[in-house]
Amino acid sequence: MSPVVIVGCGFAGASIARTLAEAGIASLVVDKRPHIGGNAFDRRDAHGLLVHPYGPHIFHTNSEQVWTFLSQFTAWRPYEHRVLAKVGDQLLPIPINRHTLNQLYGLALTSDEQAQAYFDSVRQPTDKILSSEDLVLAAVGPDLCEKFFRGYTQKQWGLDLSQLSAGVAARIPTRTNLDDRYFTDRFQAMPADGYTALFERMLDHPLIRVELEQDYFAAQGSSKALAASKARHTVYTGPLDRFFEYCFGPLPYRSLRFEHEHLANRVQFQSVGTVNYPNDHDYTRITEFKHLTGQSHPGTSIVREYPMAEGEPFYPVPRPENEALFKRYQALADAQTDVTFVGRLAQYRYYNMDQVVAASLAVGRRLAAQLGGRLGSDPEEASASHSGEAKAAASGKRFH
Ligand code: FAD
Ligand code: UDP
Repeated sequence: MSPVVIVGCGFAGASIARTLAEAGIASLVVDKRPHIGGNAFDRRDAHGLLVHPYGPHIFHTNSEQVWTFLSQFTAWRPYEHRVLAKVGDQLLPIPINRHTLNQLYGLALTSDEQAQAYFDSVRQPTDKILSSEDLVLAAVGPDLCEKFFRGYTQKQWGLDLSQLSAGVAARIPTRTNLDDRYFTDRFQAMPADGYTALFERMLDHPLIRVELEQDYFAAQGSSKALAASKARHTVYTGPLDRFFEYCFGPLPYRSLRFEHEHLANRVQFQSVGTVNYPNDHDYTRITEFKHLTGQSHPGTSIVREYPMAEGEPFYPVPRPENEALFKRYQALADAQTDVTFVGRLAQYRYYNMDQVVAASLAVGRRLAAQLGGRLGSDPEEASASHSGEAKAAASGKRFH
């Protein structure tokens, strides 16, 4: 018998299963997909190139705790992601930096101060930054906003910048220096053998059992393992609204269609890992996997991302009315004494992988303590990179 049933085998489910196992608590992890790893799953395509079927996943964190935890299950390949945006005929660094300004406007800014003075001459500050539009206009002004942000955002979310919370565009900083890396986190690397191998090792423990192609809701009546588990506790990492049968109406999630392509006999397709297309095409970006993986191959594999309203849920949609609807579901979640909700879909948070791991480590330890395992809870565990969000989420009153 498994005292804990975990729904979903992504970073949330797997990190919790491992934390519980190390505390001596068995779990059964079910996922409706035919593979482990959730959206971070990777595999070799028909041509032998390691690709990410659910879109490019680049690992970065400032959390030593998350880094140390994951490093038990993988070696790393150092990798710093770089992104160019196609604006007119130019390919320009994004996040916007001094190079971007110089190349776009034919300037010769040579210092941070000069670049800051440029931004100061065009920016439109507001008293209160509420939307992503407020944030972008206050940082870089209208022309850069139109060229780099408005179109991309419209495509990605089906919404105008003004309709999205400031946190969405705040993921992209503005720089006065020449740093052209997409992320500046302390730890930036790709799992040396890929994410799926990392997950295989994380789940390789006698107290963890994984069952794939089991939809929790469909399987509750049919799966022998689920029926036999008589779970003392359930950890749910799927979409929150689904758990409560959409009782308040659907919680909006944004979906994507991925178009994968292999180019035979072409060693390189583009000069950096990702090229963003803010203004042209129906897709938002093209990623070439060899940059991420460092793989040598005579051909190359790329993926284009087409945002969609319908389809598998991938992104929460951060805007005030959705947050209000989420809060109603969250109140129901908080009232569940024997179910814990964690992860990007269940917490309706625009989490990166490391933030999900940070939240899950905290939840796993707390749950272990509650169920009488060998570990205690460690509030430090919840300090994810970027924000205190994971900490707040993980310390929510989900346990009794
Ligand atoms: P998921 O990985 O979504 O796992 C949830 C699992 O639950 C899924 O496998 C699903 O099949 C399963 N499930 C749902 N419902 C049921 C059910 N009823 N029964 C059984 N199983 C169920 N983060 C980064 O840090 N860096 C990046 O570069 C990055 N790039 C991204 C690119 C894209 C296109 C997307 C969509 C996300 C990206 N992320 C990135 C975010 C990252 O994917 C998430 O933070 C992380 O994978 C979330 O883990 P999770 O376990 O919460 O959810
Ligand atoms: N964004 C943009 N132009 C860009 C890159 C990002 O307008 O070239 C905005 C857009 O709204 C996007 C958000 O910033 O959804 C966050 O970008 P990020 O690259 O973090 O998105 P993710 O990788 O999570 O899809």
